[in-house]
Amino acid sequence: MDHKQVLELVNRVPKDLYINGEWREASGAEQFQVENPATREALASVANATPKDGMLALESAHSAQNSWGQTSSRERAELLRKAFDEVMKRADDFAMLMTLEMGKPLAESMGEVRYGAEFLRWFAEQAVQPSGSFNINPEGTLRIVTHRQPVGPSLLITPWNFPLAMAARKIAPALAAGCTVIIKPAALTPLTTAYFVQVLHEVGLPKGVVNLLQTTNAGAVTGPIIQDPRLRKLSFTGSTEVGRQLLKDASTNVLRTSMELGGNAPFLVFADADLDKAVDGAMIAKLRNMGEACTAANRFYAHEAVAEEFAEKLAEKMSQQIVGNGVQPDTTVGPLIDDRAVQKVESLLDDAKTRGAEVLVGGTAAATDESEHGYFYRPTVISKVPQDAEILNQEIFGPVAPIATFSTEEEAIALANSTDYGLIAYAFTEDVALGVRLSEQIESGMFALNTGVISNAAAPFGGVKHSGIGREGGTEGIEEYQTVRYLGMPL
Ligand code: NAP
Repeated sequence: MDHKQVLELVNRVPKDLYINGEWREASGAEQFQVENPATREALASVANATPKDGMLALESAHSAQNSWGQTSSRERAELLRKAFDEVMKRADDFAMLMTLEMGKPLAESMGEVRYGAEFLRWFAEQAVQPSGSFNINPEGTLRIVTHRQPVGPSLLITPWNFPLAMAARKIAPALAAGCTVIIKPAALTPLTTAYFVQVLHEVGLPKGVVNLLQTTNAGAVTGPIIQDPRLRKLSFTGSTEVGRQLLKDASTNVLRTSMELGGNAPFLVFADADLDKAVDGAMIAKLRNMGEACTAANRFYAHEAVAEEFAEKLAEKMSQQIVGNGVQPDTTVGPLIDDRAVQKVESLLDDAKTRGAEVLVGGTAAATDESEHGYFYRPTVISKVPQDAEILNQEIFGPVAPIATFSTEEEAIALANSTDYGLIAYAFTEDVALGVRLSEQIESGMFALNTGVISNAAAPFGGVKHSGIGREGGTEGIEEYQTVRYLGMPL
């Protein structure tokens, strides 16, 4: 896309709120600016929803719930399937928008388009699966018949790091189940979601089924919605801190909740691992999305016999990366989302260095071409990191790989489990029995054996402990938006 085409694309993206099937400005007509993190320049101004708009969106979702819940599953499936086709047709547009507002390199944005769109196709296929049961009780006196119904109007809150995939991963199962939704994207990245909602509008979703509220006042706008008994479900992806607060808020009306929260993923390299494979896996698990992923490998633990070689090989690969504006075809690492993100990485690195960690590569906040002005940070490897370093205990959300060592299987498992989080863990070993033992003993919702990425629409994504409640994707994803009805009849 040339500059003119990019401007034309940004112009085409709706900037308004989407309520009851119509694009409309915020009440009060307030707007806020969206910035490009690679250039620090303003990209667009979008409507800034108020609490009043929030209530209108809830009213709209509530009014549409009955009729949408009663549509045939085939009808819902076909709309989702059309949306899949349409998103794929506009894949270049979606990829460019994500790169512009979020920063990831275009090739990665294209990967997210495919991943995100797949939720539409997958849940189109799930919508029509039979989901009830017929049983007779053990005493032989009662028929037990179950079927699944939509939970009802759902509020979906998404983060900035995967603007399309996180929206699709929630909207698709909710619609498949027959729920109407209000989506609130992150204020940093509202354009991709607005473009996605436009696709849903164009494929013919009935009025009120999907509503969009972008705002810089997340708590003020969503708070009254959550406190209103017409809302029946809250699905949130974001930080554990905000998720914890929302869980408290959701208790007022005893809402169904799905919480996809923060991570602190361990990446274990055993002495028998194929080190080249482990380094390739580490590059993906660490650098995908510039490290700004809840699934990002956050703590590398390598067996003491191979730690030095692993660190050297990883540092070598990291040093070959080209950091810059994601729209340039040779860029492999884009900017971080904002200045705060850069400052957090810097302070974690300072703390680790003070405690004795050694910087093998990187450690500076700059693009490969130092004249670029975005929020860049160089891919970084640090070794000899002591366990009490902050960097091993907090989500880094940046392209920094801290490496520490272990000597036994028991120690590796204990280190992996020494966190409140439990989203995903990675391990590299050629011993399959060890791999299976690890997958059973490490406390995480997901376990990646000899690979750096396992996210897939057909697989259940989610965590344990402080990483969340519920699953997205897989056959489980739709159940988050369904309630089981039981009919009992004497035999
Ligand atoms: P965040 O600050 O928790 O924000 C997430 C979303 O919640 C945004 O839309 C945000 O709106 C909104 N929000 C913030 N405060 C709120 C409030 N008081 N009431 C209602 N909504 C509120 O997280 P983030 O920085 O965007 O995302 C990074 C975090 O998400 C990381 O911890 C990452 O691990 C996690 N994450 C988890 C998964 C997963 O599937 N487990 C996937 C991706 C990311 P504003 O944009 O207006 O602040």
